[in-house]
Amino acid sequence: MKDHRVSIGYVTALDARQPWHDPWEMFQRWKTHPMVRELLAGGELLKSGAKTVPEGGYWSRPKSAGAGFLIVGDSGSLLNISRLKGIHTAMKSGLLAAETLADALAADDFSESRLMQYEERFQASWLHTELYRVRNYRQRFKSGFYLGGLLSGIEYLLGGFGKNPLPIKADYQEMLPQAQASFGRVTQMSSVRRTPVTSRCFACSRLPL
Ligand SMILES: Cc1cc2nc3c(=O)[nH]c(=O)nc-3n(C[C@H](O)[C@H](O)[C@H](O)COP(=O)(O)OP(=O)(O)OC[C@H]3O[C@@H](n4cnc5c(N)ncnc54)[C@H](O)[C@@H]3O)c2cc1C
Repeated sequence: MKDHRVSIGYVTALDARQPWHDPWEMFQRWKTHPMVRELLAGGELLKSGAKTVPEGGYWSRPKSAGAGFLIVGDSGSLLNISRLKGIHTAMKSGLLAAETLADALAADDFSESRLMQYEERFQASWLHTELYRVRNYRQRFKSGFYLGGLLSGIEYLLGGFGKNPLPIKADYQEMLPQAQASFGRVTQMSSVRRTPVTSRCFACSRLPL
């Protein structure tokens, strides 16, 4: 970026096995990596934020419409996780919703059966084609990073193969109960919270039970 500014981001999954998994702490640790540290040294924090990316994809879509409501964009799980892109899908769903609402306004009818035309428009659009092609993308990575990458690539090329849909769970269901969780690598780095430059040395301590 211009004016000697840098923008960094860290993506982590919320279906981690360890209940201790803390995305913000992981981000702070990552900033201590020599490569990132060098980039940030001497800098000042201008802005920070966090956002959830709905990675579940096609099979985790909620009901898209009902009496008096339509769900668009990320809230409707319309992000294409294979590309980590959801702006174009949010825009397209917004257009489909607007068309549906224009019809509903003309008919003065906001019932579920009328607004479900949004779902029909979705099914008939390129948006559906795009998301359906990568419908099992996230689930494929349950086989591990490398095998998952290979399988999801094959699936993209073939437009799908094997069991369909692949089972998908809510993130919290992937988490181990506290009693079964490993304690080995858990550290607390509260001293680096909201600290943009992590060039000093930090004391790490174990989290209390
Ligand atoms: C790090 C990162 C990088 C990304 N890079 C890309 C990229 O390069 N290309 C791409 O296409 N996509 C990218 N995405 C995905 C993209 O940002 C989203 O898919 C897209 O913004 C979804 O649009 P949306 O309108 O559905 O939701 P959002 O953009 O999340 O908009 C929702 C809005 O609603 C507001 N809101 C929430 N709750 C309330 C409330 N109760 N009352 C009022 N307002 C509320 C929020 O503040 C927010 O402004 C990226 C996402 C992340 C996290």
